[in-house]
Amino acid sequence: MAAKLSPNGMSKQEVMDRMRGLKQDDADWRGARTWSLVFPAGEDVDEVLEAAHREFLFENALNPFRFPSLRVMEEEVVEMTADLLNAPEGARGCMTSGGTESILAAVKAARDHARAERNIAEPELLVPASAHPAFIKAAHYLDMPCRRIELADDLRADLDSARQLVGPATAMLVASAPNYPHGLIDPVEELAALAAEHDAFCHVDACVGGFILPFLERTGVPLPAFDFRVPGVTSMSADVHKYGYATKGASVVIHRDAHTLLNHQAFFFDDWPGGMYGSLAVAGTRPASAIAAAWAVMNYLGEEGYLERARVVAQTSAALKAGISAIDGLRLVGDPPASLMAFCSDQYDMGAIGDVMDARGWHLDRQERPPALHMMVTPNHAQIVERFLDDLRFAVSSHGESKGKSARYN
Ligand SMILES: *Cc1c(COP(=O)(O)O)cnc(C)c1O
Repeated sequence: MAAKLSPNGMSKQEVMDRMRGLKQDDADWRGARTWSLVFPAGEDVDEVLEAAHREFLFENALNPFRFPSLRVMEEEVVEMTADLLNAPEGARGCMTSGGTESILAAVKAARDHARAERNIAEPELLVPASAHPAFIKAAHYLDMPCRRIELADDLRADLDSARQLVGPATAMLVASAPNYPHGLIDPVEELAALAAEHDAFCHVDACVGGFILPFLERTGVPLPAFDFRVPGVTSMSADVHKYGYATKGASVVIHRDAHTLLNHQAFFFDDWPGGMYGSLAVAGTRPASAIAAAWAVMNYLGEEGYLERARVVAQTSAALKAGISAIDGLRLVGDPPASLMAFCSDQYDMGAIGDVMDARGWHLDRQERPPALHMMVTPNHAQIVERFLDDLRFAVSSHGESKGKSARYN
């Protein structure tokens, strides 16, 4: 811990120079070298986001009565998202800082609902083995037992396993649409029906899918039912800061029933000298700019803007899937229907292939069970399909038979 405040500060120029210096080794996301973390949607979108940030750089979304603009924008972001996810009349939600907070808030609501309205002393969470770690984190924070649903042969949540684990103490059953590691959509209809049979909540984690699946569906990509159209689905999370193309700090959590949001997710307190304090999710002070940027990009793009980008993402994903599958010895993990995928091999060492790809400037995340490399396709990747596949063919040919020799890492 060697950093200290500089005694007299630095000039703005020096601050900027230092910052740019620090960025030198950062991943080149503009050049489409990354396959996670950043979702570039075009320079025009970047400009809209920057302008929205400048406009709302200093306000605080803690108190919506002080800044009615933020209340309106947050409500409209939630309503537009609810509409995309086919939420029924009466659904309500809020914005959060990201998928993790949306999930924590939804799980907390399920826990408190189970305690208060079903009289369950120790409510449990039931999540597929492929679900995002945010659920495990939520169970840990909220001190809930968490049971893991095994994956079936097609790597989606296994229904027999879910049937064995569900019970009178189940507060919430989770399905991903899609999951992050393999990009597969769990059998939402069956899992939601199973939850409903046991009076449990069913949360569909559409953190990464919420702003791409609805548009892929409209472009004709065949997808199973995954949203509020499925009767037993009680809540959903969708990150505007992923395929909504907003800057970070913007996610939405929605409950089919407003009562759940207000009575089991929200927190209100007035037994201190500071007066009435309340929040719908975890954060107190919240950046206005994250809300403003989400509202701005959604209104700027509109349905046609998202559709256009979804078409590019669909074409690019299809080209990558076909290109990868055509390489002898490589195959996709499962049959990913959307824009997330992982590929693996029965004969090659994926860690070694990943190392060669690293050396060629690509950033592919490593996965386990099976060892695989992961990709999340954005509109920005349309420009690099052939270059990527050329490098992948090279990596495979040069690291053919070294399975098991290279250290794997994430
Ligand atoms: C990204 C993601 C999350 C968590 O979202 P953060 O914004 O990183 O907190 C949860 N579930 C899925 C499926 C995700 O892809």
